[in-house]
Amino acid sequence: MFDTDVERDKVQKAGRRGFLVVGAAAAAGVVLWSWRRPKVLAVAAAAPHEVTIVQFSDAGKELQKVHAMQVVKTEDEWRKQLSPAAFEITRHADTEMAFSGQYWNLHDKGLYRCICCENALFSSETKFDSGTGWPSFWAPIAKENVRESRDASLGMVRTAISCTLCDAHLGHVFDDGPPPTHLRYCMNSAALRFVKQA
Ligand SMILES: [Zn+2]
Repeated sequence: MFDTDVERDKVQKAGRRGFLVVGAAAAAGVVLWSWRRPKVLAVAAAAPHEVTIVQFSDAGKELQKVHAMQVVKTEDEWRKQLSPAAFEITRHADTEMAFSGQYWNLHDKGLYRCICCENALFSSETKFDSGTGWPSFWAPIAKENVRESRDASLGMVRTAISCTLCDAHLGHVFDDGPPPTHLRYCMNSAALRFVKQA
């Protein structure tokens, strides 16, 4: 089949190279698979899809924009992970009583993350005293990190705000905020976890 030993040798080498390339691709596939898989292993309640968010360090430094699979968990998993109030608010769009939460009157410098998935949501730099009894901000830390949706519950039309990464209900946004945006992101304390700036 081969004219010379040299030629046979060439073919064998090419075969080995081919195997190595396929092997590397397969290994990369496994890495990708295992990186994407854990978040959805536990019987997904909804089909997860890829989202884009901006990551921040606990010190509030913008790190990078990343594509990540949406965090999807079952009701039971969320209930186990969260306090009863946080569960009802984030997973069932409940609202905490005004002046009852732990952050409406907090003035410390730091970062507010999602109580469900740690996605960075707001910075103390955009927090203001709205007088409403709910923590209020005039902008999210990154527009990618929150999502808006129409909420026609309770006989009024409002714009609900949720976490892009895990779909947690966070609160609503209104257009009576201070400059520069004139927006008021009216959040539930129980949907947030404050990380104080060191
Ligand atoms: Zn979240």
